[in-house]
Amino acid sequence: MPLSHLMELQTFRPPSFAGTMVFLVRNQVQQWKNHCRFSANTMLSEHRFYKHLLSGRKCVSKNTKTSVSCSYSTEQNDTLPSINQLSDARVIYAVAAALGHNKESHPESSARVPAIVKALEKMELTPKFRGSDILELQNFNLASVDDIASVHAKAYVSGLEKAMDQASEKGLILIEGSGPTYATSTTFHESLVAAGAGLALVDSVVAASKNQLDPPTAFALIRPPGHHAIPKGPMGFCVFGNVAIAARHAQRVHGLKRVFIIDFDVHHGNGTNDAFLDDPDIFFLSTHQDGSYPGTGKFDEIGIGAGEGATLNLPLPGGSGDTAMRAVFDEVIVPCAQRFKPDIILVSAGYDGHVLDPLASLQFTTGTYYMLASNIKQLAKDLCGGRCVFFLEGGYNLDSLSYSVADSFRAFLGEPSLAAEFDDPAILYEEPSTRVKQAIQRVKHIHSL
Ligand SMILES: [Zn+2]
Repeated sequence: MPLSHLMELQTFRPPSFAGTMVFLVRNQVQQWKNHCRFSANTMLSEHRFYKHLLSGRKCVSKNTKTSVSCSYSTEQNDTLPSINQLSDARVIYAVAAALGHNKESHPESSARVPAIVKALEKMELTPKFRGSDILELQNFNLASVDDIASVHAKAYVSGLEKAMDQASEKGLILIEGSGPTYATSTTFHESLVAAGAGLALVDSVVAASKNQLDPPTAFALIRPPGHHAIPKGPMGFCVFGNVAIAARHAQRVHGLKRVFIIDFDVHHGNGTNDAFLDDPDIFFLSTHQDGSYPGTGKFDEIGIGAGEGATLNLPLPGGSGDTAMRAVFDEVIVPCAQRFKPDIILVSAGYDGHVLDPLASLQFTTGTYYMLASNIKQLAKDLCGGRCVFFLEGGYNLDSLSYSVADSFRAFLGEPSLAAEFDDPAILYEEPSTRVKQAIQRVKHIHSL
């Protein structure tokens, strides 16, 4: 990754930035257009665009038995997948690749989701190979402005929409002060698609859980990511808080009062943290690398007021890896979730804790992500009728990102991990086990676990 981006990351503003968006225009239009891998034809809808990209391959068609064209609204539940389709499926996913939302050389690039889809195809984890076991939701509704406003200030939402004209003229704008969150003319629309994918998956999983004890696990393969976006604005590559918006949707539309959010991205999910700081019904649990962006998520950030105790932050020392995360799962995540008694589990699934990821220095492996996917699925089955939706957050090495997501799909299917084919134990070094134990003990003490 270019040094300039590393520097950008290090000079992020702290989350105290919460004000008006400052639009710094960069005159990169022509440069960006020349280098953009996919031309940003805003007239082409994202899905058509995406299919266009995949044309030549026999990709999923909405007419096939296992692919569903559904339009969700609270009034029209007849557009949900059929009960038969839901009862056959063990994995449901939705793709929102945001191909127009791209900036040259930026790690949060438009190549990320296509890389995942390609790995899923290569590992034969799409409906084409798996029939009714795997269901892809297509043509889902965009999130509405009201959906977004359940988490974000309306002034931010309308300001971003208006800014699209400017982006259209200038090609590329920065929407986070001096920070690195950029926008193109398609960003507003594509961010609504991303958030909408998450909502559609929540709807599907909830519908399935009404008829079966073991509903399919869902994965929103979406971008821009969401967990840094704060109520008043964008932050850290994130535009709208996809997982937070889905949590409010689960409460408002489905009456699922208690939402447990697990965030295992290498960075602290400060946006989700802030959205539910004083809310006792939404438990936010974040593991992240100590000292990494944005610098929040200390042990003593446990929520405020009525929400005190419903936020758990566990910063892990750099170098923490598979052994650390297994201990965290058993000793922190499980007892925490058991005590909270959730109605649904949502997961901010960031893959930038992988040892090969360029943005941080944890040592997770494909096997770690398989373990997390498998264990979280089981946790949801044990505690909340199997209702569980994963949301893509970070992950910037396209190989480790895509194979870790694919192995997560295998975990959802109950199939053995193929991590041994991708992980190279020779590149790992010794984990800081004493400091990891101390961190776990400290968080257990603070939260009386
Ligand atoms: Zn991250």
